[in-house]
Amino acid sequence: MAIHDAARPFVSRDVIEATLESAREYGSGVISTPVVDTIKQVGPDGMVTSLDRASLRAVQTPQTFDCHKILAAHERAREDGLSVTDDAMLFEHYYAGVRLVSAPGAEANIKLTTRADFEALERRSQTDARVGQGYDVHRLVEGRRLVLCGVDIPWENGLDGHSDADVAVHALMDALLGALGEGDIGRHFPDTDPAYRGADSMKLLAVVMEKVRAAGWRVGNADVTIVAQRPKLAGYMDAMKQNIARGLGVAPDRVNVKATTTERLGFEGEGLGISAQAVAMLVR
Ligand code: MG
Repeated sequence: MAIHDAARPFVSRDVIEATLESAREYGSGVISTPVVDTIKQVGPDGMVTSLDRASLRAVQTPQTFDCHKILAAHERAREDGLSVTDDAMLFEHYYAGVRLVSAPGAEANIKLTTRADFEALERRSQTDARVGQGYDVHRLVEGRRLVLCGVDIPWENGLDGHSDADVAVHALMDALLGALGEGDIGRHFPDTDPAYRGADSMKLLAVVMEKVRAAGWRVGNADVTIVAQRPKLAGYMDAMKQNIARGLGVAPDRVNVKATTTERLGFEGEGLGISAQAVAMLVR
């Protein structure tokens, strides 16, 4: 029976297997690591004694035991009113010691208990990051919906395209795929495929996010710029931001959506089309 503390979410297969193997052979297997800090024992008078670091180990979970023995130990401890801080202490008490095992990956099997633990983890994961950028353009035509960041915007013209032509979400998906090193949306959702005719780009974003998660990443932040002379988009910015945050599975403060005109210059300025640019950062 392997007993694990849910506060250690990074436990690996190697670590679990090391304890199972030991328990099969010796009746117990408790994962441990060498102690790196010097440990002092404080006496009742406040004076300290140094302990020999070489003989000390820090124990973690999983702690794996012969199932009948550990259950019996719990029963007896209840009857005896014995108070312990982990299962290994029970086993030590009733069966004369436990077998400690080490395994690759034990250092990563950290315990998340305090807010500071989570903050330290966040800082560490921020150091492993990938960035990607995306750019897309769609033509403005009559008789089409105008959809930007999944928000339907009532206007005389809409964006032309095979899908719903949500140019902003397309740029964002390209940024995510860019950070993943996975090419572009044309490769993943070819416009020759009838499956994507009129497709809701937010649903395609969900597919891209599955790829992001499957590769072990999450979104650190994303920034989207929509370039359009008209219509005025200011009133839709908040709804767009909320939509994108939901689509990326992050808090809204990790998403920025903004719009600009081009002072009537170029195709966007002449109202012939809308372009969008996006940058996304992925973190472990
Ligand atoms: Mg497009």
